[in-house]
Amino acid sequence: MTNERIKILLVDDDEDDYLLTKDLFSQISNLSYDLEWISSYCDALKVLSGCKFDICLFDYRLGEYTGLDLLREAVSAGCKAPIILLTGQGDNGIDIEAIKRGASDYLNKSEITSQLLERAVRYAIERKRTEERIVHMAYYDGLTNLPNRSLFLDRLSQALAHSSRYKDSCALLFIDLDNFKRINDTLDHRTGDLLLQGVAERLNSFVRSADTIARHRVRALASTVARLGGDEFTVLLTEIHSMQDAAKVSQRILYSLSNPFHLDGHEVFITASIGIALYPADGEDIDTLIKNADTAMYHAKNNGKNHFQFYKFSMNSTALERLNMENDLRRAITGNELSLLYQPRINIGSGTIVGAEALIRWQHPELGLISPARFIPLAEETGLIIPIGEWVLKTACRQKREWHRKDPVHAPVSVSVNISGHQFSQGNLVNIMEKILVDTGLDPSCLELEITESVIMKNADSTVALLHKLKDMGVKLSMDDFGTGYSSFNYLKRFPLDIIKIDRSFIKDITNSPRDAAIIKAMIVMAHTLEMKVVAEGVETEEQLSLLQDMGCDEMQGFLLCRPLPAEHVHEFLEIWDGMLINNEKP
Ligand code: C2E
Ligand code: MG
Ligand code: MG
Repeated sequence: MTNERIKILLVDDDEDDYLLTKDLFSQISNLSYDLEWISSYCDALKVLSGCKFDICLFDYRLGEYTGLDLLREAVSAGCKAPIILLTGQGDNGIDIEAIKRGASDYLNKSEITSQLLERAVRYAIERKRTEERIVHMAYYDGLTNLPNRSLFLDRLSQALAHSSRYKDSCALLFIDLDNFKRINDTLDHRTGDLLLQGVAERLNSFVRSADTIARHRVRALASTVARLGGDEFTVLLTEIHSMQDAAKVSQRILYSLSNPFHLDGHEVFITASIGIALYPADGEDIDTLIKNADTAMYHAKNNGKNHFQFYKFSMNSTALERLNMENDLRRAITGNELSLLYQPRINIGSGTIVGAEALIRWQHPELGLISPARFIPLAEETGLIIPIGEWVLKTACRQKREWHRKDPVHAPVSVSVNISGHQFSQGNLVNIMEKILVDTGLDPSCLELEITESVIMKNADSTVALLHKLKDMGVKLSMDDFGTGYSSFNYLKRFPLDIIKIDRSFIKDITNSPRDAAIIKAMIVMAHTLEMKVVAEGVETEEQLSLLQDMGCDEMQGFLLCRPLPAEHVHEFLEIWDGMLINNEKP
């Protein structure tokens, strides 16, 4: 400590006393220091929370406050620096009180000499450091420097209290290295130690970066990696969103351990088994949670090692299936496994084809064709909807241009694209749209964006602004699945929509439920009053169509006309359809 420059804070409201203390410090020849003087209690409070000082000296008398008050504030603000209280004559008894409240020392101002001051400062700093070293030894593992079992239990109990208060979940991962004993025996113990250090390092750096995967709120506690002893480690993930987060982190831990370790000239391969227990699902107290994570870990070992296992078996298959599907979906984007079908839409009065809706499909190499209802929610949850949505927009715009280029007479007037709520709240949808329109050279009026009711209603104010921007670009806007959410007519008036698409669930019962028929009629009248067109979705029978026509519905889409078609068949369909119209063979 002799050569180190120490930062000293003096809080004293008496300038003469400050000058005196400053003078005393200046007489200490072998102490290198910076002295900062603060003269008021309130100003001192401001510097205490992120206290950067090596030592603080508080005068006992600070106007209407006392040095003991400041001491209390400093301790509760987490100030780590040792604190010395300076008392005056007649402040008897305060010394003991100060020590009880956490002061390192006290000095009677009338007796201070420079030697006394020097000794008090040096002792206080040294004592504090020794204390810290002891605490570190008590709470950290000497080999890996990770938190040990005691600190882990403490963190776990904090995390459970936090989760219970904020009603969220956390996951406890129990990690045990596979066949560690064999490595320890065949190499030597020193290599074994190096391996444990290496594992600790990977876990630590990995969990730090993985925190963002499993973290959904700013208020989060830090995740903790700990070594319980031997080759047993734990990872505590706080504020996880779903069990999927725990599965994802576990899989990545296994992956990060699968790279070889280079230890003292040896290349060592290691795997691990991980057991996962979730709070509160698998246990609401520390003991149960630990026991269940441990049990799950043993199952992972017994089932062939090198994998993770949830405590509840039912979770394993779901988590794995979802995880595989997520990985597959990532590959699908780049691997040409996604495609678009197009479902034509006609004007009911004239029978002419007015547009086609792009509907995504995923051709999975093993699972076959997967419908959007199965993978769009996963894409939304994982954020993959952003690249997927962009791909859909680009492909549909390009396709519309292509139909037009090939045969301007028999091309659908517009193409509709479904936009997910996540794309909508992403912020740069307008820029993406602009770029796609420029790149594909599509006339914006030939593009229609379908937005579901729930998305529009969720953030009504910000949505109105965004819808106006899109509208200003010249694209058309429709409200999809109308009637399934909670639209009020009042709201609807505020949105610059061109079209509402009445959800299939209403159309389905239109012929046998007078109530549904009445609702549809009201929707049509209301939409026309607001100068919007009405499209009926999912029309399957002639009866439905004829009722809709009587009600004044403008357009329709559904299996009655045709199922969604591959792009190349749309053109064929249009040619045939237009031919039938000309020959007056309209159904
Ligand atoms: P949606 O936008 O309401 O699309 C209409 C759905 O109804 C399509 O299902 C279509 O095949 C189906 N359909 C059309 N006519 C009939 C009919 O007469 N009877 C019956 N039973 N069904 C009919 P699909 O293609 O499975 O799409 C389901 C939903 O997935 C879509 O509902 C849309 O919300 C979403 N989706 C599809 N493609 C995309 C996409 O590219 N991006 C996003 N974000 N969502 C998409
Ligand atoms: Mg749609
Ligand atoms: Mg719909």
